[in-house]
Amino acid sequence: MTKVLIIGAGHAGGTAAALLRQYGFDGAVVLAGEEPAPPYQRPPLSKAWLKGEAELEDVLLRPESFYAEQGIELRTGVTATAIDPAAKTATFADGTVEPYDLLILATGSTARKLPLPGADRGELLELRTLADAQRLKAALGPGRKLAVVGGGYVGLEAAASARALGSEAVVIERMDRVLARVASPVLSTFFTDRHRREGVEILTSAEVAGFEAEGVRLGDGQLVEADAVLVGVGALACDSLPRAAGLACDNGVVVDETARTSDPSIYAIGDMTFRPIPALGGLRHRLESVPNALEQAKQAAAAIVGRPAPAPEVPWFWSDQYEVKLQIAGLGDGADRQVVRGDPTAGAFAVFHVKGDRIVCVEAVNAAAEFMGGRQMIGRGTPVDLARLADTTVPMKQVAAG
Ligand SMILES: Cc1cc2nc3c(=O)[nH]c(=O)nc-3n(C[C@H](O)[C@H](O)[C@H](O)COP(=O)(O)OP(=O)(O)OC[C@H]3O[C@@H](n4cnc5c(N)ncnc54)[C@H](O)[C@@H]3O)c2cc1C
Repeated sequence: MTKVLIIGAGHAGGTAAALLRQYGFDGAVVLAGEEPAPPYQRPPLSKAWLKGEAELEDVLLRPESFYAEQGIELRTGVTATAIDPAAKTATFADGTVEPYDLLILATGSTARKLPLPGADRGELLELRTLADAQRLKAALGPGRKLAVVGGGYVGLEAAASARALGSEAVVIERMDRVLARVASPVLSTFFTDRHRREGVEILTSAEVAGFEAEGVRLGDGQLVEADAVLVGVGALACDSLPRAAGLACDNGVVVDETARTSDPSIYAIGDMTFRPIPALGGLRHRLESVPNALEQAKQAAAAIVGRPAPAPEVPWFWSDQYEVKLQIAGLGDGADRQVVRGDPTAGAFAVFHVKGDRIVCVEAVNAAAEFMGGRQMIGRGTPVDLARLADTTVPMKQVAAG
């Protein structure tokens, strides 16, 4: 009987296990992860769960009973320390050695640290796991102040949730705008204004020099007082297992369109992978998003059971802050201009990133039709009439139809 071992019981690993059964795989499936909880969704950790609007059961990928019912051996609280591709085994921290026929690596990513004075005092918060979120939630409430280092999506979402819980919040960003690495200036300005209207203090071009008991010391000597400090400065691929085993790695473990690594018996999926994106000319990227985890889980499960490969998807992502629903499709790399459709001050608009006469990315704020239309056009790679794209009197469906 073929045995598939999945290391990492997060969004990608949990989904791959379920899909193997859904696609009729009747061999053994072992799903092994280091966290104590069954696979769960991380997006609510900075949003609904943090605000107290969702319980643990609401964020689980599937009910805990699902795995036994499906004949999936779920092992929680176990950390893989090495894989041996030649022997086809994985070793765990408790000394157990698990043989496999096929291995799926799904170890995700880990929060980037800031090696600055005071960072080792053990008081800094990060937000990747349920345990992290529990610590953060305990630090929030009326009369408390949260300092968020890093104006990325997770940091901004946490600041919005902190305000909903009655905390004061300040975001400290070293670049000259929030979301600088991941979004257009129009979007950065929109979110900065939105957060300031909610009472969040946003400091930009602010370098952190160190962490003290009273708060965060900036490079210019200013002390930003805070009761709790959340560091949200990006994530790094958890690719130490494939690296040590000699698998091809770059910014994450290198996989192909079927999620296969340089070892034909080993697949890798989710945040840890450096993957080609067919919709964007095969460029390789490391993506950190739920849709990416789901797409690659489908690719690996389909390849293992011998189903046709799923149709390639245009990468996409979402973020919720206050009543704002942001949806992004595609990647803005190499775009030569941006076209804004709608009025950012009205709270509903889209920014299209255009390369030549093709859309390569859409950032849609409370604009579902623009998101859908933009995503379709990126997938088709058809030319777009820029004047019609910017003209909100032309319905988005008509623009997308060409
Ligand atoms: C706070 C937060 C908010 C987010 N919001 C959004 C959002 O709004 N939209 C969106 O699209 N995406 C969002 N994301 C990103 C999304 O959650 C991730 O892209 C997704 O979880 C990736 O799935 P994964 O399975 O690759 O990694 P993970 O879900 O992180 O799972 C990896 C698992 O592997 C385990 N593991 C690691 N090393 C080992 C080892 N050696 N042995 C055993 N187990 C191991 C880890 O403990 C972890 O449980 C958010 C992420 C965070 C943290």
